[in-house]
Amino acid sequence: MTIQYIDEIKELAGKRIFLRVDFNVPLDEGGNITDDTRIRAVLPTINYALDCNAKIIVASHLGRPKGEVNAKYSMAPAAKRLSRLLDKEVNLAPDCIGDEVAAMVAAMKPGDVIMLENLRFYPGEEKNDPAFAQALANLCDVYVNDAFAVSHRAHASVEAITRHVPVVSAGFLMKNEMTFFDRAMQNPVHPLVAILGGAKVSGKIEVIDNLLNKVDKIIVGGGMAFTFLKALGYEIGKSIVEDSLLETALNAYNKAREKGIKFYLPVDCVVADRFDPAAEIKITPIQEIPREWMALDIGPATVTLFSQVLQDAKTIIWNGPMGVFEMDAFSRGTFAMVSAVANSYALTIVGGGDTDVAIHRAGEFAKISYISTGGGAFLELLEGKTLPGIKVLEENGKPLFSTNGGNQ
Ligand code: AMP
Repeated sequence: MTIQYIDEIKELAGKRIFLRVDFNVPLDEGGNITDDTRIRAVLPTINYALDCNAKIIVASHLGRPKGEVNAKYSMAPAAKRLSRLLDKEVNLAPDCIGDEVAAMVAAMKPGDVIMLENLRFYPGEEKNDPAFAQALANLCDVYVNDAFAVSHRAHASVEAITRHVPVVSAGFLMKNEMTFFDRAMQNPVHPLVAILGGAKVSGKIEVIDNLLNKVDKIIVGGGMAFTFLKALGYEIGKSIVEDSLLETALNAYNKAREKGIKFYLPVDCVVADRFDPAAEIKITPIQEIPREWMALDIGPATVTLFSQVLQDAKTIIWNGPMGVFEMDAFSRGTFAMVSAVANSYALTIVGGGDTDVAIHRAGEFAKISYISTGGGAFLELLEGKTLPGIKVLEENGKPLFSTNGGNQ
């Protein structure tokens, strides 16, 4: 089944579009947006809808207000920023459902943009409540989901609403996510190499399991490597480890070998005498981690090895940093891998909040083919799951308006 995208809908002029976005932007203590990437990411969809003379109702959640109105989580900063980026007025509704909002929508003219107040001010949003979904659906003629990062959640504005709107589709951000994911995991050009890192194996077991059915090589770095290394009999000192997953890790490692998948682990590491930016550090082979020390980054030999593994890759998929890159002393391994991935001759797809941060800090984002906007959603796709928000777009992506006429 395929998803219908906004540019396949004819006659958008004058139509009320409910555009579900992810404007869950980070704010500082003063309520200022510290990173507006998520807002910029949906500008192509909004601009397209504006070009079509539609009426655009932007809807999002922000933070975790837990079903109650809380001024701290108002969409006001996002509305203001969107207004600046579009260079046009974006009025913030006082609520996301109810008479006042309905009146505001009724007064909209083609080409107007309004933003609803935080969807999570209502418990019905996270409960996927049909009545709440119906109330949202009443505001619009067309539903457009461009919130990939929340499509793994069966929430009212993502899932249930699609059963109450006559036209259901997705935006260009979603289209990019789906297209690149397909190119990486469904129809990849081989060799396909997966790089996994981050603190823990738990939460990534299903990802590893699924990847072992797809990839040619797998690289495991970061804290999670030490559960594998311990399972293989190495002394890992005080490095992060999940003892309950030693057997699982060993099974995954053996499964890879049985399938002929090359499995790469660090061969050296940066060890520290404590978890502290000012800790004493040294580089040791993996066989020589001192008992009282902990490994917090991959070492230079590992960077060389991992970079070599990427040489013939045609597709690379990456989630998770190679070390505690938040501290300068343990950031080199991750940054070196950013550079190796960025300079490879492969289609490169990166997902997960931390990896994204590392790539931006390294200034290499322009050289990555695609950086997913979804953390949890991206991981669930890697696990091979069908996301509830995507499933309904496929099932309920019906019917489009008549195929006659254009969008002008
Ligand atoms: P995750 O959320 O599982 O992707 O983990 C990301 C976190 O893993 C980052 O905050 C890193 O600091 C942390 N991390 C990476 N390598 C290590 C390591 N060797 N020891 C402890 N934490 C690590």
